[in-house]
Amino acid sequence: MDIIVTTTDRIENCRISRYIGILRSSAVVGAEVALADFFADASRNYRRKLDGIYNSALQDIRLKAAAAGADAIIGLHSEFQDVFAKGKTRFVVSLIGTAVRLEQCCDDGQPRQGGGVTQFDLRRNLLSVNLLRQLEKPGFNPGADDWDNIVRYALYDVAPQLYRRYLVLASETIGSSHPSEKRLLLDNFIPFLQSMDYEQAAEIVYSDTTTSPYVFRNVVKACNLFHPQKVAQMMTPKNKHTVISLLDCDKPVYDRKDLEYMSAIVEYLDNLPDTGHYEEGRDGLFSKTGTMLVCERGHMTPVQLGGHCTALVEGSGAICNLNVKGITEQEVLAINAFKDKVDILKSLLNNDSL
Ligand SMILES: [Zn+2]
Repeated sequence: MDIIVTTTDRIENCRISRYIGILRSSAVVGAEVALADFFADASRNYRRKLDGIYNSALQDIRLKAAAAGADAIIGLHSEFQDVFAKGKTRFVVSLIGTAVRLEQCCDDGQPRQGGGVTQFDLRRNLLSVNLLRQLEKPGFNPGADDWDNIVRYALYDVAPQLYRRYLVLASETIGSSHPSEKRLLLDNFIPFLQSMDYEQAAEIVYSDTTTSPYVFRNVVKACNLFHPQKVAQMMTPKNKHTVISLLDCDKPVYDRKDLEYMSAIVEYLDNLPDTGHYEEGRDGLFSKTGTMLVCERGHMTPVQLGGHCTALVEGSGAICNLNVKGITEQEVLAINAFKDKVDILKSLLNNDSL
């Protein structure tokens, strides 16, 4: 196995032909070692143990890269975390890096001789074509062997079809018993998506925001797929609840372009059109007249300006809670929290001289 591993984001004399995805690997050490031991004589042994575990995590991420058909891992980042519980300290070594395919692998900058197709690529493409064919059948869901291949060969071509199935399946009533194939999809889809490149995954997930806005939002949240540009493009009065539900989601790295789109989202939310109106009215026959909110559901309740409807929603028994813009108290809080995030991001990016 000849996987190049580097902490830099490029490799001298090599061009990257494809970004395969983010790989993670972690290993734990020290389950039986008390914290005091670490600072005592044992620390030298411990250090050695720690090095060992680092190397095994490195070996593991190399294997994953090879299994995904990568030539190299770039931007390798390691993290040592100590978790202290029940008087014992455990060290977690985590490695994260991006698996890439190189256009030409280089020894001294010389292109590799002969083009050729690897057995791995041939098998990968074959599996992909077969699985895509199977997925054309509406009732088909990948079985355990299929999932092994999907993960091992990083069959990202099938991700759009899997997402469409996941949207429907994950929105079904909780507690209903699922056949095992459906269970596999529910368990495996999110980790699979998490292993994908951010832009590639976002492209798939934002292609359907309406089949189940709730599941869509949960996928964005679980995979850190908040995409300011795509969210800004979603902004219509009809979509406002979905947009607001995304505001507490994140993305791995924010840049100035993101900030521009996020500012546009704030601007849009600040200027939502009224869906209800205020009028002078009387709450019951004997009360004084005052300001009444007529919400978009047609309830008329006495409120302060900016207040939320206190009527019960027919059939559900829940309080309506919409204000004159048609948004709930929780949504107002979410918008305010988002504004704080945008302000902080603005100051961080401005401090950054790059
Ligand atoms: Zn109402």
